[in-house]
Amino acid sequence: MDQQDFSQLHWLTQLLHGIEVGLVVIDRDYQVQLWNGFMENHSGLSSKEVQSRSLFSLFPDLPQQWLISKLEAAFLMESRSFTVWEQRPWVFPFANPRPVTGGLSMMHQNMTIQPLTNSQGTISHAALLIYDVSVQAQDRQKLSQANDRLEQLSQIDALTGLANRRQWQRLLAQEFDRCRRYQPASCLVVIDIDHFKQVNDTLGHSMGDQVLNRLGELLKDSLRKTDVVARYGGEEFVLLLTETRQEASIKLAERLRQSVEQLVFAFMPSLKITISLGLCPYHHELEGTEQWFELADQALYKAKRQGRNRLVCFEPHNG
Ligand code: GH3
Ligand code: MG
Ligand code: MG
Repeated sequence: MDQQDFSQLHWLTQLLHGIEVGLVVIDRDYQVQLWNGFMENHSGLSSKEVQSRSLFSLFPDLPQQWLISKLEAAFLMESRSFTVWEQRPWVFPFANPRPVTGGLSMMHQNMTIQPLTNSQGTISHAALLIYDVSVQAQDRQKLSQANDRLEQLSQIDALTGLANRRQWQRLLAQEFDRCRRYQPASCLVVIDIDHFKQVNDTLGHSMGDQVLNRLGELLKDSLRKTDVVARYGGEEFVLLLTETRQEASIKLAERLRQSVEQLVFAFMPSLKITISLGLCPYHHELEGTEQWFELADQALYKAKRQGRNRLVCFEPHNG
């Protein structure tokens, strides 16, 4: 080896120890033969301490079976193989060196396994290259949290915090299928505020919004957790009274009507509002959710025609 070769080897050794990638060389008995600076820093074990010791005795938490099958495949196929954090978040249990609040506590890793030949050209060792990908994993986690949040927001009406129409349609379909299968008694109620245009016209749209908000609160507070209340649109609300028979649903809806009549608005104590309600119980002749809603809506229309501030229940044979 001439002076030039020697210098290059010296530099390579320095680079290998300083590089921000974990480098481990093991023999066919999985005993460590090389352990670079990255591995020393993150494991807290010096190169001397790990020399010629089995990887699995040094790290009892390593996924032994999985890693052995990867290593043996690399030895057998004489080719590199790769693993990514999405399959297994980490190989070596190291702490995340750049933890942020609410972030990942463990270093997430990708790994490459590279078979190494000896001077006779036979594969005698393998190198494990460990890449710290915690930052990418963290970004992915943040993105997925943001997506969950968006998904949640897209189910909620911004003004009242109730389920929106989209979420309502999903829940209604679920309840319809459940009724079809298990035949519980459930009722659908459509609610529309009476003469709401006048409220807007006399008090302004923003006061109108506060009325909607307060009514939403009252509806939510008056129902059980298993019931569904949603803002269907504008000043129309819908309820699903689950496992509630017609008579009980009528009582509940009638009580709601009276509570709205008596509702006092802190921002305008003289204001009075009333609602009209249409109710339709689930029954087996229903073709689907659209018809279920349609029949409740027809009952509501009747309530409006009969003078408002009242509840009308769908009647199967003279509706
Ligand atoms: P009716 O008794 O026949 O229901 O009379 P109405 O005046 O309530 O008539 P209708 O239901 O057709 O009108 C609904 C009104 O509700 C029209 C619109 O000005 C108002 N509105 C709809 N959405 C909103 C909203 O988000 N905020 C406010 N402030 N008003 C809304
Ligand atoms: Mg309306
Ligand atoms: Mg109205």
